[in-house]
Amino acid sequence: WGPDDEGEQRRRGASGPVRVRVPAKVNLHLGVGPLRGDGYHELNTVYHAISIHDELTARRGDTLTLTMEGEGTGELALDDTNLVIRAAHALAAHAGVPAHARLHLRKQIPLAGGLAGGSADAAAALVACDALWGTGLSRDELARIAADLGSDVPFLIHGGTALGTGRGETVSPVLARPTTWHWVVAIADGGLSTPAAYRELDRLREAGVAGEPLGSTDALFAALRQRDPRVLAETLGNDLQDAALAMRPSLAETLKAGEAAGALAGIVSGSGPTCVFLATDAADAERIATELASADVCRTARTAHGPVPGARIA
Ligand code: ATP
Repeated sequence: WGPDDEGEQRRRGASGPVRVRVPAKVNLHLGVGPLRGDGYHELNTVYHAISIHDELTARRGDTLTLTMEGEGTGELALDDTNLVIRAAHALAAHAGVPAHARLHLRKQIPLAGGLAGGSADAAAALVACDALWGTGLSRDELARIAADLGSDVPFLIHGGTALGTGRGETVSPVLARPTTWHWVVAIADGGLSTPAAYRELDRLREAGVAGEPLGSTDALFAALRQRDPRVLAETLGNDLQDAALAMRPSLAETLKAGEAAGALAGIVSGSGPTCVFLATDAADAERIATELASADVCRTARTAHGPVPGARIA
């Protein structure tokens, strides 16, 4: 394909299947501000995309259909409540094309795990259908449609490491020299509801028993530039962690076990119950994951690295 052919291809859409890979996210910093009039909290967060992926394949079809396999899919409906279907409809409405596609989702990101799996799938659907239908939107245009689908969806279009403000939907990339960070991801049995975690935090704050809210992200940004995991470890934080621990006290054991296994730091990811641990390097991450998996403090532990790109055609 030359550049002109590529442009033509984008306008006409793809005749063969389009396969998109999309990562999970963790929040290196999740600062939760006051509750706004619209029911959302004002956030100051640093998103980081890690190498646990869902995959969405889009093929031409006469209607819109979805099939699924993998993590948690037995608990997910295939109707308009599924974020993949909502994303396909949103793009079709925006572009003025019929929402016709055969979509197949392979999930590895655990459901309701605080890793934004549903948001990732919505981002994948936007990128896949844009290519299939030849609607040719820019990443920024896709991110604008994404913001109406969920606060984390725009970040998962972009990926990398990025600052999220507003309710998390306003995303600006963090410019740092390329570094790979190594993580251990402890996946729990069952999920936690994100709205319930925010309600729990409000309750803890009203009762005056919530921890001090996180301060600015300056130290974290400096640590990302310094490229030393020991320094980064000191700057990770999550205002939702107390709420997740109140809802799932056993997570304290998971965090303790990760640190006992030699992790530089451990935090609850987003609204939990997944816990993520920072390791010195890839070998250290493997060792910590093996130790955690045998400590009976999580369903499974796996390694991951970041940052990785957002939703991309594979
Ligand atoms: P976040 O970190 O963004 O708060 P999460 O990782 O805790 O999210 P998700 O896996 O994104 O949670 O799922 C949250 C809810 O979204 C699910 O319980 C489910 O009801 C709904 N949902 C709709 N479509 C999907 C999808 N394709 N995959 C996962 N969840 C979906």
